[in-house]
Amino acid sequence: MDENQLFALALGLTPPWFIEKVAFDPGQKRLDLFLDFKRGSKFLCPECGSGEGCPVHDATEKTWRHLDFFQHQAFLTARVPRIECQTHGVRLTNVPWARPGSGFTLLFEALALLMCQQMPVTGVAKVMQANANTLWRLLSHYVEKAVADADYSGVHDVGTDECAQRKGHNYITTFCDLEQSRVVFVAEGRRKDTIRKFGTFLDRRNIPREQIRNFCADMWEPYRLGITEEFPEATLTFDRYHVMTVFNRAIDLVRRKEVRSVPFLKKSRYLWLKNRGKLTVSQQSDLDWLTRMDCKTSKAYQIKLTLQRLWNHTDRADAEVFLKRWYFWATHSRLEPVIEAARSIKRHWQGILQFVDSRITTGIVEGLNSKIKTAMKRAYGFKSFEYLRTVIYPVAGKGGVPESVEN
Ligand SMILES: [Zn+2]
Repeated sequence: MDENQLFALALGLTPPWFIEKVAFDPGQKRLDLFLDFKRGSKFLCPECGSGEGCPVHDATEKTWRHLDFFQHQAFLTARVPRIECQTHGVRLTNVPWARPGSGFTLLFEALALLMCQQMPVTGVAKVMQANANTLWRLLSHYVEKAVADADYSGVHDVGTDECAQRKGHNYITTFCDLEQSRVVFVAEGRRKDTIRKFGTFLDRRNIPREQIRNFCADMWEPYRLGITEEFPEATLTFDRYHVMTVFNRAIDLVRRKEVRSVPFLKKSRYLWLKNRGKLTVSQQSDLDWLTRMDCKTSKAYQIKLTLQRLWNHTDRADAEVFLKRWYFWATHSRLEPVIEAARSIKRHWQGILQFVDSRITTGIVEGLNSKIKTAMKRAYGFKSFEYLRTVIYPVAGKGGVPESVEN
């Protein structure tokens, strides 16, 4: 076996393709493999691919970047036949080692894709000695393909949550399939019309909006308005963890005001806000000691513990009776922040009670969002939303795909 045959084997080349020549230039750190095909070979038409192939009309030379050969850049150069199809005329045939139109071999592309899921794209470009914009186009191509192939016919429960690279900066909204734990759609912003974009996305894919039966979101008013307008047949469940966050904020306000006159409340913030089960044994005993104190913070905490019991209810009517009683108690607590929080709960009454029937939360969405935040760092230096979307897909799409909507 000579070196040409060896390289043909390494590339997985099959007849009629063969390696005609190998040129190795250590000074230029470059390896060139020249490919050719046997005379008289026939090739399939790229349009119809029919029969045993079409005769070659002529050939045109092309070069592809291949995986590096150790520290040497490797290139394939081949005469690519243009065939003459009886139906389609003269057409450039497809080669087995590259996608039509790509300047890279499939192996090079596969490695680049793999690396782009772990590293910033600019970093991959440097390591692979490739142009960053070219890599972006490559990533984008595979994302588009996944978009086209994704199946959303089984999406019924959608979790919606915001995600920002940094607090207060460039919000995006993610729409997740709660049953399959995947991101279905990502849009810029967190406005009412962000929900409209999701509706348009479904329309474009011929997915009836009635297919979405449940939404779960936080109590952000623009989301609620958007969901009510765009998906009038869906029910909205307010995420129970976000509801508790609203109440936790109230407890902290009570504590911060009270700490001025009750010094033992200092440094106790964490104890009141975390679930008891997440505290260490010594923190638990501190908390038990604090809750026995007759103070306002402790009172607010008892009101929170009671609210938490709402989530155990399985009957909507019972749950509503319970919540009404709780509301009366909370609003008569004479603790201003608690009363405020209770009023906020009143304003979101039905959506909060909806949990009893739907049992859905946005927990999955937050898990996906943390992956998304990591992925967004890989788009460092590339600010536009399209770039974000391209890096988000491979980590969160899982057969689905985050997608933007053209204006
Ligand atoms: Zn044809």
